[in-house]
Amino acid sequence: MELLVVGSIALDTIETPFSRVDETPGGSALYISISASYFTRSIGLVGVVGDDFPEDVISELQSRGVNLKGLQIIPNGKTFRWAGKYHYDMNTRETIYTQLNVFADFNPVIPDEFKSSEIVCLGNIDPVLQMRVLDQVYNPKLVIADTMNFWIERKYDELLETLKRVNVLIVNDAEARQIAREPNLIKAGKKILNLGPEIVIIKKGEHGAVLMIDSIIFSAPAYPIEAIQDPTGAGDTFAGGFAGWLAKTKDFSEKNLRRAVIYGSAIASFCVEDFGINRIKNLSWNEIQNRFFAFKELTKFEVD
Ligand code: AMP
Repeated sequence: MELLVVGSIALDTIETPFSRVDETPGGSALYISISASYFTRSIGLVGVVGDDFPEDVISELQSRGVNLKGLQIIPNGKTFRWAGKYHYDMNTRETIYTQLNVFADFNPVIPDEFKSSEIVCLGNIDPVLQMRVLDQVYNPKLVIADTMNFWIERKYDELLETLKRVNVLIVNDAEARQIAREPNLIKAGKKILNLGPEIVIIKKGEHGAVLMIDSIIFSAPAYPIEAIQDPTGAGDTFAGGFAGWLAKTKDFSEKNLRRAVIYGSAIASFCVEDFGINRIKNLSWNEIQNRFFAFKELTKFEVD
């Protein structure tokens, strides 16, 4: 496998000031795999759902070439559920509930054929489980991880242990501050670079993303979208595009990491245009490329 994805698979209830959807398919692993599938057809997914999870979403993943040998479907089980509410500026979100359900007893078992995956993308799950995944894989070239306030608050020490084994940490601004216990974002990024990862990416919602490697900082804007419907999953979609591009190109140079940030940002910018996975499951390669080049225009300036 070029890319192993482990993360949550969910039924999300999302409320924005303008609209609401109930129990729409989501979760970190779903967003990451769909997004990465635009770059590679060699993706192995490991996750858990109950038998209440919609079959058409499972077929959708299969049709994108995502290998589901690592997907556990628990008979009579209830899929993980999460509900979030966005406020007027859409950059702030409140968690209404988190129901772990089948996720509470999830033990990720990595199928033999996934164990030599070149890139491992650990979506937002319990850091103990993220470590259990790393214990099973053989020397991946790159380990990318994400996390969330839920785990930072409950499993901080375990998260610090996981970070020692991660190459790239992708988090949002609030999470970076919470992990580093530091309000200034740049200082927080530098502190995280001392905790294990060689690379940290801090996502700032509609204000873009910052890539930090040693003392190098690359700042990418977010694509200006006038009609943001639902920011849920934008972070995971970013991670999927980033990981997918690296899986396709197998080039981890700084120059290519910058491109990966832009591909991640490009697909994430589509994600927010509709609820859940609705927009990202219907993209064409042309749309992605056009947006990638729109980022180039957006940041171009002349010196004289
Ligand atoms: P994002 O908007 O990129 O931060 O990710 C939102 C996704 O994270 C939603 O689809 C949720 O189902 C999922 N999620 C929310 N809380 C958790 C949690 N505690 N563990 C794992 N996944 C979660």
